[in-house]
Amino acid sequence: MAEVCPDLLNLADGQSHILLLLDFDGTLSEIAPSPEEAILRPGNAALLGRLARHPKCTVGVISGRALEDVSRKVGVPGLAYAGNHGLEIDGTGLQYLHPDAAAALPAIARAAGELDAALSDVTGAFVENKTLTLTVHFRQTPEQFHDAVAAVFDDAARPLVSAGLCRVTTAKSALELRPAVDWDKGRALTLIRSRLAPDAFPIYIGDDATDEDAFQAAQDVGGAGVFVGPADATTCAHWRLDTPADVTQALAELSGLGFPGPVTSTG
Ligand SMILES: [Mg+2]
Repeated sequence: MAEVCPDLLNLADGQSHILLLLDFDGTLSEIAPSPEEAILRPGNAALLGRLARHPKCTVGVISGRALEDVSRKVGVPGLAYAGNHGLEIDGTGLQYLHPDAAAALPAIARAAGELDAALSDVTGAFVENKTLTLTVHFRQTPEQFHDAVAAVFDDAARPLVSAGLCRVTTAKSALELRPAVDWDKGRALTLIRSRLAPDAFPIYIGDDATDEDAFQAAQDVGGAGVFVGPADATTCAHWRLDTPADVTQALAELSGLGFPGPVTSTG
């Protein structure tokens, strides 16, 4: 079980450079009823900007959203942005598009059309077409229809999975269809680290199942995974914060303590 996170500076005790990577929804934003309604929490833009300008800190956001969407939602210059779980990355001199993801584009476009039509009658369910991936959201769908949404999704996804073109992942009240490439937020973290901050101490903060790979990737190289959510949730992260408000507080502590350097106080 993850322990309550002490201040982030304490985690990075004595490190000369920090690579701070964060998820967006439910981490830098509160969970919103729909993807469009999610906004960066007050204060986070200034804190991320301040941290990114620190010579010993590299900052980025890794989201399941499309790259264009997440970079617009955050809108802070000087950050690395990774969209579609890291299949596309842009920022601070790194440009990346996963070479094999393109093969699945026509299939994902077709599935998006099919699912749009099939879910049009289901209250609260809708398709977010992110070109490289798609997500079916059903947070606002009454619970008795959740199985029906899953069945519709399965009908569209199964042939593509069988053909080796796509794979399915699950998130909070969401089902996702992605290219069948061996890639996830953890791989994205490793790529960003190797290209932008090879010896940095990585800290990854996120709230969802798709963040687990990134917690693991950070921890595999001695860094820190910080899960955002309740104490009874299952996570491989060693550390935990309760809510997005606590993430903002943690960023404020990190940006205000003159890191890196010896830790004299754990707050
Ligand atoms: Mg999230």
